[in-house]
Amino acid sequence: MNLNKPTLQNKIARLRINFVNQLPVRLEQAQQQMAILSSESPINVTALQELHRAFHSLNGTGKSFGFTALADVAEHAEHYMQGIIDLSVQAMPSDLLGILSEFLSQLQAQMHILIASDNAQDHTQSSPYFEIGQSDTEIFQGQGPLIYICDDEPEQVHYLVHQLRFLGYNVEHFTDTSSFREAVLTKRPDAVIMDVFFPHGRTAGTDELVSIKDVTGHKLPAIVLSGRKVFEARLSAVRAGCAAYFVKPANPMDLASALDELVGDKLQEPLRILIVDDEPEVAEYHSLILEEAGMLVHQIHHPEKIFEALEVFSPDLMLVDMYMPVCNGAELAAIVRQIPEYVGLPIVFLSTETNAQKQFSAMEAGVDGFITKPVVPAELVSAVALRAERMRTLRGLMARDSLTGLYNHTTTTEILVSSLAHAVRHQEKLVMVMLDLDAFKSVNDTHGHMAGDQVIVALSRLLKHRLRNTDVIGRYGGEEFALLLKDISSDTAEKLVNELREDFSEIIFNVGQKQFSCTFSAGISMYPGCNRAEDLRMAADTALYQAKSQGRNQVVVSKMCDE
Ligand code: GH3
Ligand code: MG
Ligand code: MG
Repeated sequence: MNLNKPTLQNKIARLRINFVNQLPVRLEQAQQQMAILSSESPINVTALQELHRAFHSLNGTGKSFGFTALADVAEHAEHYMQGIIDLSVQAMPSDLLGILSEFLSQLQAQMHILIASDNAQDHTQSSPYFEIGQSDTEIFQGQGPLIYICDDEPEQVHYLVHQLRFLGYNVEHFTDTSSFREAVLTKRPDAVIMDVFFPHGRTAGTDELVSIKDVTGHKLPAIVLSGRKVFEARLSAVRAGCAAYFVKPANPMDLASALDELVGDKLQEPLRILIVDDEPEVAEYHSLILEEAGMLVHQIHHPEKIFEALEVFSPDLMLVDMYMPVCNGAELAAIVRQIPEYVGLPIVFLSTETNAQKQFSAMEAGVDGFITKPVVPAELVSAVALRAERMRTLRGLMARDSLTGLYNHTTTTEILVSSLAHAVRHQEKLVMVMLDLDAFKSVNDTHGHMAGDQVIVALSRLLKHRLRNTDVIGRYGGEEFALLLKDISSDTAEKLVNELREDFSEIIFNVGQKQFSCTFSAGISMYPGCNRAEDLRMAADTALYQAKSQGRNQVVVSKMCDE
């Protein structure tokens, strides 16, 4: 674990300190509104609304950060103001100013308490964050799932280890159980494969090995690889909770399918959540919680930025603050729902609003859920994940190819256009790779269509394991793939694709008694250089064609769009 990396707790503590440090400015601004109220007649309605907003945000943000006493005062003030704003100017109470300045002085008193208590450090205990109870999870970054194999016969597993590596797994091999156990406890693998029958008696039985837990107390996803076919051996593996049982020699492709079932979640691209909240601190707080749970978060603090954010970030779900200036959450939801592309986008409101009638009218505007501030982090994560994943599944059915689970042609083309727009806007690099299996027709002709399908699945597995989960992998045609690699140079991309090419060529496919292997060729283009989607695609295609004509099994970088 990286000790220099600030933990979620540190980050939240910093947000809380910022909040306390900003309190004097916020209360000073409230004082200025008070001054306007007392000097003008008839009463200045805008100043009233500003004060209401100030109380509202102190309430919501204060609660989120666990400053309950301050937030309680702000809540009273907010409710009182709500009643006042609804009245006509004539009907306002004569002691209005007195009541408001009483609220303000109570808030100031709370502020002094917070500042005195060493900048909010002492209050960390009361932050709702502490209900998460999670450690920092490292977000998977293109390393390939980590697999430990424990087997004391190196020759037997040698081949398997190599084949799994070529398929993009990060494999480590142990020949004795003590170093295996040590490794599991030091760094949790995504799955383990083990031979349970060791020659020196049964000291390392299935039960004992599988019951090794990692630091978080979870059992490891485990696969048994055994020389024994007997019923008892399989039974004890099932009883120990092993997910699969393979008899040696195991076919690496079958083992890879079983591993992918076990580590499936890891290969998912992170859920993309767009947060719309006019209070940057609150947006940051919710975003930290969601990022901690492995999601990718984009924040906007002005509702009018919504169109750009939707287009550029392409979220799976929108988390919207109910109460914002200019346009409230319900209005924003209605605007988004009027755009045909976003009719299905899940929208969840975050608000201090517990008023049932208001929630109901928001639901009518097409909102999928409500989360009341202050949020319990675990609830926020599960409410968001559940709805965003449902959206993903629905969208995935339309956007993905059924054999490989990769993006289909149409979706890949759409993503190319939006990724390029993003790269141009942010002045980032974008590399496109077109990749095509060599002499694939003869694979089908010689070994059959099913064997051909196996090759396509193996290549897509290698790509999924080895690329970063922010990169895009599409099945562009039958045996043709398109990759979009973000923010890397064409040199790095060329090196990467060459490594993939070499590893892929080492994979051995089995059809009955026969074995064969396969290669691919690739063409690379990039932005800057090619500045339109069509140019990027054409340049990559031309480079691919050149790779084919120069003899296949090679990578060519386009000259058409030099950086
Ligand atoms: P080249 O090296 O020039 O790319 O030669 P090639 O044989 O790979 O190219 P060609 O375009 O002539 O043939 C592609 C073959 O890929 C023909 C088609 O039947 C096969 N193919 C396309 N999609 C699939 C699929 O989903 N499964 C299988 N098994 N074969 C497929
Ligand atoms: Mg081909
Ligand atoms: Mg082809």
